[in-house]
Amino acid sequence: MESALDSIGFEHHDHSTCMGDALESAEQTCSSKGLRLTKGRRRVLEILLQEHRAMGAYDILGLLAEEGFRAQPPVVYRALDFLVGNGFAHKIEKLNAYVACMHPGDDHSPVFLICRNCGTVAETTASLRASLGQAADQMGFVIEATVVEAEGLCPKCLEVANP
Ligand SMILES: [Zn+2]
Ligand SMILES: [Zn+2]
Ligand SMILES: [Zn+2]
Repeated sequence: MESALDSIGFEHHDHSTCMGDALESAEQTCSSKGLRLTKGRRRVLEILLQEHRAMGAYDILGLLAEEGFRAQPPVVYRALDFLVGNGFAHKIEKLNAYVACMHPGDDHSPVFLICRNCGTVAETTASLRASLGQAADQMGFVIEATVVEAEGLCPKCLEVANP
């Protein structure tokens, strides 16, 4: 049996604790900022944390429907807006999909490594900020937000492609 460490995602981390840690940190942030992590918002965050896969709003609606929640699309969109707006999740524009943030609470410019085959997403903070910042400085440009989305193959899919 594969361990949780290498069966989910491709970033080395202990998946058995990451969902609980992320939910706990979201709860703490919400209570300290006076935000309401409603049941629906929490469930959407849980779904995003489960597999570290980028998921569209309709994928989430489908899962909720399977669980017997008859959520309407606007409900899911509002929950996603809340999660993204408060730094618990990110939107991946390229895929029009969402992932849970793996570094909540840190001020960071996320860099996403997206597997084009299985849709797994790893978030790293490997910083391009410094070099990008320098280039922008030279042009007198002030960067307010940076999101880097890199597409490729994850180690698992690479192994299948080149056994
Ligand atoms: Zn994990
Ligand atoms: Zn993040
Ligand atoms: Zn893959």
